[in-house]
Amino acid sequence: MQEKGNISIHTENIFPIIKKFLYSDNEIFLRELVSNAVDASQKIKRLASLGEYNGELGELQVEVSFDKEKRTITISDRGLGMTAEEIKKYINQVAFSGATEFVEKFKDAKDANEIIGKFGLGFYSAFMVADKVEINSLSYKEGAVSARWICDGSTEFELMEGDRATRGTDIILHVNADSDEFLEETKLRGILNKYCQFLPVPIKFGTRTEQEPDGEDEEGKAKFKEITVDDIINNTTPIWTKSPTELTDEDYLRFYRELYPFSEEPLFWIHLNVDYPFNLTGVLYFPKVKNDFEMQRNKIKLFSRQVFITDEVKDIVPEFLMLLHGVIDSPDIPLNVSRSFLQADGNVKKINSYITRKVADKLSELFKTDRASYQAKWGDIGLFVKYGMITEDKFYDKAKDFVLLENVKNEYFTLPEYQEKTKHLQTDKEGTLVYLYSNDAGKQDSFIRTAEKRSYDVLLMNSPIDTHFIAQLEQKLEKTTLKRVDADVVDNLIAKDEKIESILSEDQSKAVKELFEKAINKSTMNVEMAALAPDEFPVTVTMDEFMRRMKDMSRNGGGGMMSFYGNLPDSYKVSVNSNHKLIQRILQSTDENNQQRLARQAFDLALLSQGMLTGADLTDFVTRSVDLID
Ligand code: ADP
Ligand code: MG
Repeated sequence: MQEKGNISIHTENIFPIIKKFLYSDNEIFLRELVSNAVDASQKIKRLASLGEYNGELGELQVEVSFDKEKRTITISDRGLGMTAEEIKKYINQVAFSGATEFVEKFKDAKDANEIIGKFGLGFYSAFMVADKVEINSLSYKEGAVSARWICDGSTEFELMEGDRATRGTDIILHVNADSDEFLEETKLRGILNKYCQFLPVPIKFGTRTEQEPDGEDEEGKAKFKEITVDDIINNTTPIWTKSPTELTDEDYLRFYRELYPFSEEPLFWIHLNVDYPFNLTGVLYFPKVKNDFEMQRNKIKLFSRQVFITDEVKDIVPEFLMLLHGVIDSPDIPLNVSRSFLQADGNVKKINSYITRKVADKLSELFKTDRASYQAKWGDIGLFVKYGMITEDKFYDKAKDFVLLENVKNEYFTLPEYQEKTKHLQTDKEGTLVYLYSNDAGKQDSFIRTAEKRSYDVLLMNSPIDTHFIAQLEQKLEKTTLKRVDADVVDNLIAKDEKIESILSEDQSKAVKELFEKAINKSTMNVEMAALAPDEFPVTVTMDEFMRRMKDMSRNGGGGMMSFYGNLPDSYKVSVNSNHKLIQRILQSTDENNQQRLARQAFDLALLSQGMLTGADLTDFVTRSVDLID
């Protein structure tokens, strides 16, 4: 039996295109061939379970081997095999008709996945690395004879009797001159680890020797013998294929270590499991988050029936959950996904909102069942929750019940709890509730204490996304505004009806103001007289909340009005407390030099308390202080 013929595609050009234009992704040939072998193994198993195959199943494993001398890579399976007729049907009649259109359309294509997927060319990806491919197969069917197919990358093939004696298929690639790298053990192992780590059928790659205990020698020392073991590279039953009820915490942690060998333990995890309206399983882990966001992105692996597809899950996982780790497996996502496919696919959108919902449910459950441990993890979880609330309205609506606000005393409150806590004292005369916050409790300590003297509460908002979170809260919460504690003197932060009278006359006030302006002598410092409580600081330096936000945003790349504000010089308000006794002392002094010196000293103290006093100003301050002590 010998036959020659033409593969029925309508152009001679397809193989050069596969080889040449898809070069960048050529390692996926191994994924395609190994997954075909796995499919074949699973099919024979199914046939056996249906009673359509009654022979020995044997050990269903796929073997990948290579021979550097002969320049071959062989993928062998014990699957259902193919008869010559089946080879003609499944391999020769390449599953697409518009070959000419294909060549036109994809001659500049960069994404091999797209082409291979679209035109069902899985098997033909072998020609990306081989200039000759052989199939040697024996079908499970009774009385089948072995069939061999050889193709040299043209549209001609040869079909003859093969010599495979046991059921299954060998695919033998004769590696081309440009693809030497695929004849290296480490390269092949690397590709197998990437794509085949969790395939459902054991994948054997080479053999290795191990030392096995072998009794004791005459002196009673342990003896060892060398044994050869098959090197199975994959875990055929990764935990996402199991039911959560059969798994312990240690199983989840062990799997995490398998995925990310050098990572810290995750905080908690979510086991995903749906079969309607789409199929999806997986485990998502919440890692401990450091501030190096970018580095940790792209840690979620996407699988389709345990075949690794990609770790670019941008469209499947909501943006704000990109920092999660773990795996997602969905047979509804075809093996050969491409960017454009993912964006357009309806299932993908559903998967996206399913994951959002699952994550919200999990957080809500943790919060409700064990608030103490939820709070303890807030430092890490908070980032996701806040980011999610900022970017997805749907998530905001769920998270508003379990997002926590932390104050400078490290106490935690939900939004309703915090409103309850502050509404009596922190509502201003317009009826607006003012939440005070600090982004640096150390630097803003004097302001925090002043606020606390009034029994006001101060939140801690020091994570990188808090600026956005604050804006979001203001937008969502009714009649509520947030002000940084150092945005103004405390009486102005939360303006009340009761007013403290100034003990200075108008003329005296004017004199003090001029005196300070002269002593400070900086155009960015705007002196104002303020009638504050006598026990508050004599001088307070603040930057307006709005101005500071605009400047912050412009620093972070905001355009428009923000960059306008960003370009303005920093501008501060210097509030001089007309009711402080130091101010009266300055006023009473008859020595103008002494007046200037005291005014400057009071101003410098205000700067000092906020870490704003540096350089020559700081040196002058120290010198002046020494003089004053004398
Ligand atoms: P797909 O896997 O998407 O069907 P491929 O081009 O990868 O497309 O394979 C084409 C067909 O060839 C398969 O559907 C299968 O019928 C057959 N085939 C390929 N490899 C094997 C194998 N190792 N054993 C049995 N049949 C195979
Ligand atoms: Mg295939």
